[in-house]
Amino acid sequence: KTLEERVKSVIRDVQDFPKPGILFKDITPILLHPSLLQEMITAMADQFKDVKVDAVAGIESRGYLFGVLLAQKLQVPFIMIRKEGKLPAKTIKESYDLEYGSATIEVHEDAIAEGSHVLIHDDLLATGGTAVAAAKLIQQKGNVAGFSFVIDLTFLEGSKKLKEIQPIIKSLIT
Ligand code: 5GP
Repeated sequence: KTLEERVKSVIRDVQDFPKPGILFKDITPILLHPSLLQEMITAMADQFKDVKVDAVAGIESRGYLFGVLLAQKLQVPFIMIRKEGKLPAKTIKESYDLEYGSATIEVHEDAIAEGSHVLIHDDLLATGGTAVAAAKLIQQKGNVAGFSFVIDLTFLEGSKKLKEIQPIIKSLIT
């Protein structure tokens, strides 16, 4: 079986989570398979072998699971993008609209080197709203090197929004 098929076979579909009508892709079982996880990180790093990446920024919280391993594999720093109010030192912020209301994400100001090329990583791309906000946050100090996801829910066409920012968009499975 291909890597894609094996990853798909361990991702669990959870009906009606976090609310009725939503089919949630649960990636937690991947973490129960260390050799599969290792293969995934190797494949994800390989997707960016010809791209200039100075750092990987992971989006809270599932973006940390694979993001920090990806950064290690690429031997570059890992940057935590967090929800507002969690980071202790001086931050820069970006707000974005949700279905109802809005949200703010932030990053330590000194975590992003001026003008550096930062790869944005999250576990899953849905509408793209979160990744666009992360990109705008990074662009306050640096450049977006690309986008990396484990899963792209392509029917939601999130990559259309991201393409305008940076066309290098990779996912392991769709
Ligand atoms: P978007 O902003 O692209 O609409 O939503 C993506 C964000 O929501 C990501 O941070 C992702 O972790 C989370 N998310 C949305 N739906 C799912 C899902 O079905 N499974 C997982 N694991 N995360 C999801």
